[in-house]
Amino acid sequence: MKPGIHPAYDEVNVICACGSTFKTRSTHKGDLRVEICSSCHPFFTGRQKLVDTEGRVDRFQKKYAKAREMQAQKKAAADAKAARKVQ
Ligand SMILES: [Zn+2]
Repeated sequence: MKPGIHPAYDEVNVICACGSTFKTRSTHKGDLRVEICSSCHPFFTGRQKLVDTEGRVDRFQKKYAKAREMQAQKKAAADAKAARKVQ
C-alpha cells in the first residue's frame, strides 16, 4: 500500500438499538450506532414486527382510537334505542 493516502481501517464496534453488538472494520472513527441490525430486523427474525422509528404507527393508532370511540358510542346509543322499542 502506498503510504499516506489510505484512511485508517480499524476495527469498530457496531451497537444496535436492540442491544446487540458486533465487530467489523471500517474507516469510520469510533463506534457505529445503528437502529436496526440482523438480529432484530423482521426479515432475519421471521417475526412480524412493526419497525417504527418515527412514531408513525403510534400517531396512526392515536388518530383512529378517537374514531373507534365515537363508533362505540353511536352503537351503544342505537342499542339503547332498540331496547326501548322492544319494551
Ligand atoms: Zn438490532
